[in-house]
Amino acid sequence: MRPESLLVPTPAGLCCPVGGFHIDPLRPVARAVITHAHSDHARAGHGAVLATAETLDLMRLRYGEAFAGSVQAVPYGERLTIDGVTVSLHPAGHVLGSAQVRVEKDGLVIVASGDYKDVHDPTCAPFELVPCHVFISEATFGLPVFRHGDAAAEVEKLIRSTRLFPERAHLLGAYTLGKAQRLIALLRAAGWERPIHLHGAVETITSYYAGRMELGDLRPVRDAAKAEFAGAIVLCPPSALGDRWSRRFPDPIACFASGWMRIRARARQRGVELPLVVSDHCDWDGLTRVIPATGAEEIWLTHGAEEALVHWCGTKGLRAKPLHLVGYGDEEEVETIEAATAGTDQDGTAAVSDQNATAAGEPAGGPA
Ligand SMILES: [Zn+2]
Repeated sequence: MRPESLLVPTPAGLCCPVGGFHIDPLRPVARAVITHAHSDHARAGHGAVLATAETLDLMRLRYGEAFAGSVQAVPYGERLTIDGVTVSLHPAGHVLGSAQVRVEKDGLVIVASGDYKDVHDPTCAPFELVPCHVFISEATFGLPVFRHGDAAAEVEKLIRSTRLFPERAHLLGAYTLGKAQRLIALLRAAGWERPIHLHGAVETITSYYAGRMELGDLRPVRDAAKAEFAGAIVLCPPSALGDRWSRRFPDPIACFASGWMRIRARARQRGVELPLVVSDHCDWDGLTRVIPATGAEEIWLTHGAEEALVHWCGTKGLRAKPLHLVGYGDEEEVETIEAATAGTDQDGTAAVSDQNATAAGEPAGGPA
């Protein structure tokens, strides 16, 4: 069997015609395998959904109980046969529950890795290297300029800033699923024992994480008096940094944790005073480390700077091509667009009701 017959890029996403399923479909389909719960990969309205238990839980939190016709939770490493195609899920190291999808038919193995990173993250299982013939890789940060460095050192910068400016609130913009909780865990690992305050839009997913790991003293912003925010760290969605909500805090410092913060112009453009380079995607070094290590002779690239990686693969003697799948991107960008269209009020309640609107059947927004 040729790889192009086993997994086929279609307008609805990557399709396995033999197995009759799609991976991270963009439109409602009969059978979906979902890599992780970020909204550009996990959408509501499919017939049957196969994913890790955590991904299914997170989808339920975002979209409501009726997000799919039926669901099947699959533990990492367990092999299933779907119409003669062997399918298994393996840790992607991206966010809690995130998985690479290994698809095998007649000895041919393709791994669709979804979003992934191969560096330490205390909030999810570490990335597993899965040998394969064809490796499908994201290319979100697929340019040599993107080097994320050490996330713990970035968090130290934030803690140093709270010591330098003990009167000022530090508003930490972070993507609400995965990034926010990873930052909390990194802050705790760095010895930050004070309460961490949460914007309304960060609460639900953080309490799900907190049920599975120790995240310390977490408090909703709305329950705290203004004086408590002096020198405090307040987690919020990136979109909240510049809006009315941020004005309640004493002389706030806008901090933003993202792989894009490597680009100084991007930080300035968003009014970020303290940029922190922390990403849940591989940087250039990670991508160029993982791709050859899979042993794949052929690399298919998607969402991001595909051309640079196609070229790099060529220099290493690897066949590579872009898949030209449209509709996936960096989840931070997706959320910024979602929030901009929904608006947020003072407690982030609009962001929560936006999630309810999605549960009522509206498709989740994708990147423009
Ligand atoms: Zn993602």
